[in-house]
Amino acid sequence: MSLNLANAEVEVRERRLHSIVSYHGTAVDLNERSKTKSLPCGGLSYEQCKDCSQGCAESITYLIRDAAVVVHSPVGCCSRGASYFIQGDVVNRARGLPAQNVNIICSNIQEKDTIYGGLEKLRNAVHEAYGRFHPSAIFVHSSCAAGIVGDDIDSEADALQDELGIPVVPIFCEGFKSRIWSTGFDAGFHGILRKIVKPPRKKDENLINIFNFEGSDTFGPLLEKIGLRANYLVPLATVETLSRMSEAACSAHICETLATYVAHALEEKYGVPEVKAPAPFGIEWTDQWLREIAKYTHKEELAEKAIASEHQRILPELQKIRQKLAGKNVYVFAGDSFAHSIANMANDLNLKLLGVTTLHHDQATDGNLESLNTLDQYIKSRGDIGFFTVCNKQPYQMVKILKKLHPDLLIVRHANMTILGTKLGIPTVLEGDVNINAGYDGVIKLGKRLYEALLTRKAIQTISEHVEWPYTDWWLNEENPFYFEGGKEA
Ligand code: SF4
Repeated sequence: MSLNLANAEVEVRERRLHSIVSYHGTAVDLNERSKTKSLPCGGLSYEQCKDCSQGCAESITYLIRDAAVVVHSPVGCCSRGASYFIQGDVVNRARGLPAQNVNIICSNIQEKDTIYGGLEKLRNAVHEAYGRFHPSAIFVHSSCAAGIVGDDIDSEADALQDELGIPVVPIFCEGFKSRIWSTGFDAGFHGILRKIVKPPRKKDENLINIFNFEGSDTFGPLLEKIGLRANYLVPLATVETLSRMSEAACSAHICETLATYVAHALEEKYGVPEVKAPAPFGIEWTDQWLREIAKYTHKEELAEKAIASEHQRILPELQKIRQKLAGKNVYVFAGDSFAHSIANMANDLNLKLLGVTTLHHDQATDGNLESLNTLDQYIKSRGDIGFFTVCNKQPYQMVKILKKLHPDLLIVRHANMTILGTKLGIPTVLEGDVNINAGYDGVIKLGKRLYEALLTRKAIQTISEHVEWPYTDWWLNEENPFYFEGGKEA
């Protein structure tokens, strides 16, 4: 990857990582064809719902502690903002941090502004955010409407930055620009790298950047075992903390889909090494992750001791939970890399993996590192996954897949899909707090939650008997769940 911070906009994933949004086959086939980037982005001729880059950009910027966000859009684009007030409160308590306000203002683009331009509204909204919240930085999210009209947000942000004396950071996350909504993560990080991160003043050899969402503090205790500290980024961090991420010893993350862009960029621009091992989900991947970090921090001996004693410590509990889950099977439905991580943990827990659906698939990684290609890593250590699909969160397709396979357990990453599993009578575990699965304890915790979910089987079954699906008989009786992959109309 060649980082281009001179350009205000990040290159979308379709072009940068040859990402795709539909596929069905096997994990090995997908991995092989990805090596030559031979799969087209594709898609479905019918889509029931859609997400947008804006949502992923929100998850990066909305919870930065002392920042404000101006969403330059019609009011609907920031309708999810309200949920961050509750989320921010809950996650801060969980981390033992003080409560924080979520400082969001929408410029409220209306029909007239799409003809005459909306820059005056943007200026007013930024002034309002500055006066009301006294932030250390203001992020400006673009939107489809602003992008189509062609409002020059970048120049306006530069002028406002000079006027106000704080960083004003444009984030170009228009939904129409990319079919891969994770492009919004990259857009958020790109803005932070351009306008917030400073060159290192002094290095902190014991500090490890952990790019995550606003999850639990599980990486801290894991790193403490080898004398290191976690620098959680970006949600819940201050603007000052963000500006100093270039001072860490190395950068790791909870998921390659989330943060290989920023981790790779920090290595390229400031020489902060990117941890070149899969995120620590599953016992073997945690071993690899600790060893890789130890290499950059000269903690090799401590790491080997910690790995040996942690294996010994969790063994009795692991054996118990493996026995309880023996003979059960599971289906995983989550974002690209995180789905591979969960599949990896399912193997540790003695579960049979019935299949995996990822919400998109990147045919390359930033920096093209084999060690960060989690699908490749999974196949090397665990073998093939016979039923592997890519589907951008279409419930109508997932209903058919899950009805057909009917797993004992379903693991999902997004709340709305939990409902889907329940309606089908499948005990479903939501991985809302990704961090909770990290490290050796994470495997045990996931095992316990899955076992508890199994115990709800009867209640879930009763619910499913009273469900009425919104689909026609034609679709419910159609044999092929991938009918709309071929460009067919209903
Ligand atoms: S940016 Fe575009 S796709 Fe995203 S919410 Fe707004 S209108 Fe919808």
